[in-house]
Amino acid sequence: MSEELFPAFLKLEGRRCLVVGAGRVAESKIESLVRCGGDVRVVAPEATLAVREAARAGKIVWEQRRFEPSDLAGVFLVVAATSSPELHQEIFERAQRAGILCNAVDEPERCDFYYPAVVRRGPLQIAVSTSGHAPLLAQQIRQELEERFGTEYGAWTEEIGRARSEMLASGVPAEERLARLRELCSSRSFNEFRKRAHPEPGAGDNSSGKVYFLGAGPGDPELLTRKAWQILHSADVVLHDALVPPEIVRLAPAEALVCDVGKRCGKKSITQEEIHERLIVHARAGRTVVRLQGGDPLVFGRAGEEMAALRAAGVEFEIVPGVTAASAAAAAAQISLTDRRLASKLIFLSAHRCKGEFAADWKTVLRHDATYAIYMPGGNYERIARELLAAGLDGATPCVIVSQASTPQQLILRLDLASLADVPQPPAPALLLVGEVTRAEAVEAAAAWGDDGQAFENEVVR
Ligand code: SAH
Repeated sequence: MSEELFPAFLKLEGRRCLVVGAGRVAESKIESLVRCGGDVRVVAPEATLAVREAARAGKIVWEQRRFEPSDLAGVFLVVAATSSPELHQEIFERAQRAGILCNAVDEPERCDFYYPAVVRRGPLQIAVSTSGHAPLLAQQIRQELEERFGTEYGAWTEEIGRARSEMLASGVPAEERLARLRELCSSRSFNEFRKRAHPEPGAGDNSSGKVYFLGAGPGDPELLTRKAWQILHSADVVLHDALVPPEIVRLAPAEALVCDVGKRCGKKSITQEEIHERLIVHARAGRTVVRLQGGDPLVFGRAGEEMAALRAAGVEFEIVPGVTAASAAAAAAQISLTDRRLASKLIFLSAHRCKGEFAADWKTVLRHDATYAIYMPGGNYERIARELLAAGLDGATPCVIVSQASTPQQLILRLDLASLADVPQPPAPALLLVGEVTRAEAVEAAAAWGDDGQAFENEVVR
């Protein structure tokens, strides 16, 4: 016996629908049948105010009495919404014999069909079923879909429908019709529709696009913000860094133009000026351009230069922040970066300057009660360790290296400054956290591991 349900959307217009029971639960069932044009008859000795009102307004017929077998005559579907399992069993059996579709509320074994969780956007309906296994999960998924597919989808669906009918009526050849419909259903068309429906203030007749600096977070797609997710879904063009994982890049629409503009120092694939030019050209062509960057776009990225170029070109832009690597690394290693007992400052440093030099000015930033988040350590742990020690930090200062934070490949290495120089280089990207706040954990870990303070929580790839 197959447990798989056959999904279908029924036309109820003019069909007799019987609802047995007229309490709170029945109310919503009645409402959805009436909405779809069903000829709804309700049988129940008592009814809620809303049901009585619907009857008074002529939307339904309410018969104030108990169920009788003859009520099923000529009925297309029946909903049993009383508190009596015996009555539900009787109705289900009679309905089965008469070939009538039956739904006994909250009793899957007495149902021929279920009410799905539904997202309604005009003619567009998205129905979710878990085959009666997990109605709450279905509700949750519905909520997610509601956020993903806003109310504007209703009018958009209608617009596509009108275009399709016109094409059918005027005999546009099938192949051309399909091509045009495909274009009409693309995210580009949706964006245009949205702009037409809700023109942005000040947009006037200039159909210029917009650049979004989106923070892609540290790697785990779940750490994208909802806003970033939504904008990425409606992108026409995506220019992304090498750091952004493919799972996130793939969230862009299939027809979007996607380009990896990532560059590693020394191995330039595309110049900064070329990036500026692409951002400007695509935005001026009216496109939604996404500049997708790992972590937060305003932390150790090129957003400063890019924003300046866009301002100079008069191109509109918006920034959507993301979870920066320091936050992800701290979360991975369970470190409170500004634990008030140990640190009052959090300093973000780059171990790497574009010209290939090191910051020679560690001294100017070193403070006693500070935590350092050192980005882009590359393979330079020996040098970083030497400079920090030379600047007066104690060799016993604890630190943590987190490699590929938030991804399944994440590695956490706990050590101290004295041993940092000899650390095997973990896979990139990695971030180094230095400071007393990393100690509490290190001490606990050391105790747990029974060694001298170095605990490798995962194996390091050497
Ligand atoms: N804008 C990014 C930083 C870009 S610079 C952000 O806010 O996170 C690139 C550096 O970020 C890498 O060299 C590394 O130090 C750090 N980084 C980015 N993602 C990381 C990750 N998942 N785990 C550890 N470090 C990461």
